[in-house]
Amino acid sequence: MIHRDTLGYNERQSDTYFGHNKTSHNMSSNIRVPKICQHCGTEFIAKTTVTQYCGDNCAKRAYKKRVREAKIQEVVPTAIQKQDFIQEQVSQKAFLSIAETCKLLGTSRMTLYRQIKTGNIKAGKVGRRTIIKRSSIEKLFQT
Ligand SMILES: [Zn+2]
Repeated sequence: MIHRDTLGYNERQSDTYFGHNKTSHNMSSNIRVPKICQHCGTEFIAKTTVTQYCGDNCAKRAYKKRVREAKIQEVVPTAIQKQDFIQEQVSQKAFLSIAETCKLLGTSRMTLYRQIKTGNIKAGKVGRRTIIKRSSIEKLFQT
């Protein structure tokens, strides 16, 4: 059971309360902080205010859980995976159509035509089709 006096206890309070007490060091090392384990939810008495878990087991399990969650967050969003896939497919070709270039760059036709007009991207014509040399797109990324 938790003693009533220790309820709501925290480090700041103990520092000010025992600040001028010559035994303050001993007192603060013996503080008992009622806590809820952040892993299993059990109420326990912690010896430091930073303790988050009821014991080593929960601390270890919580750590493993954090590592696992961090790994999940590392997974690349499917939109980027798709982009990579398209880039991989398209990168096999030396010349691209307008549609392929739009997909590759993720731009609209309007933007692409503007880039062609300003000469940022070099395009050629095969009959009625506009084709774009892949190397001219790659040049965009060279600074
Ligand atoms: Zn626990």
